[in-house]
Amino acid sequence: DFRVKLTHKSRDELGELSTSIQKLADDLEHTQKERMEFLAAISHELRTPLTYLSGYSSVLKRDDLSEQERQRYVSILEEESARLTELVKNLFDLAQMDETTFTISKESVQATPFFSTVLQRVKHSFELEDKHLELSIREDFEMVVDPVRVEQIVVNLLDNARKYSPIHSITRLDVYVQDGHTVIRIEDEGIGIHTRDHEVIFEKLIRVEKSRSREYGGAGLGLAIVKELVDAHGGRIEVISDIGKGSIFTVIL
Ligand code: ADP
Repeated sequence: DFRVKLTHKSRDELGELSTSIQKLADDLEHTQKERMEFLAAISHELRTPLTYLSGYSSVLKRDDLSEQERQRYVSILEEESARLTELVKNLFDLAQMDETTFTISKESVQATPFFSTVLQRVKHSFELEDKHLELSIREDFEMVVDPVRVEQIVVNLLDNARKYSPIHSITRLDVYVQDGHTVIRIEDEGIGIHTRDHEVIFEKLIRVEKSRSREYGGAGLGLAIVKELVDAHGGRIEVISDIGKGSIFTVIL
């Protein structure tokens, strides 16, 4: 009889096996449920700007509109198209990261020219909104990273700093080496994030205080992408922030 032959040890192993199969099944179910929720949330995110686009396009056809009204509706159309574009781009990035083939390719990069170029690319969007962006590199150094991905990390964090900060505020990008690690620190003078939300903001489609966030125009994917890219580098990201106190995001690679 098979059962009789089971030693104590093998019975433990069978028990362990059945536990891990159960766990795997739970995980799969969990993933599927998460996927469904994610899809539902994405559909919602896509539908909202689309509703605005079709609604305001019809309104624009009316001939009794004042020039002021027309301008306002055109701005809304522009904002919603920009939101859709960002959402689709972010979804594409995330989908790419879900692929098992997603890899990063590290190379040796000189910090000063790299971050100066990134800054130049982003600075314009700050200036358009009358906000300031400053870069400080304590001393030049070489880092071994995937430059395309690190740029994506920095641009996403800087975009958030700009979006959630008031006019005339200063965002500081500080880069340095600590204990052999590359540290990228982004400090803003924006609206801040409640401490209870520090964990969840890195999840997909999480927006703290939805109405507030929609006003600032985002789909809650930026930080999820940042987190994945930081993880892919074997690094970590930390946040120090509170409502009304600004935010500091630190990436350690
Ligand atoms: P979103 O596209 O909504 O900005 P993110 O994933 O980039 O999505 O950020 C998630 C949420 O975290 C945002 O909706 C916002 O509430 C909060 N957040 C992120 N960065 C900042 C920041 N620098 N200042 C204040 N709130 C922020």
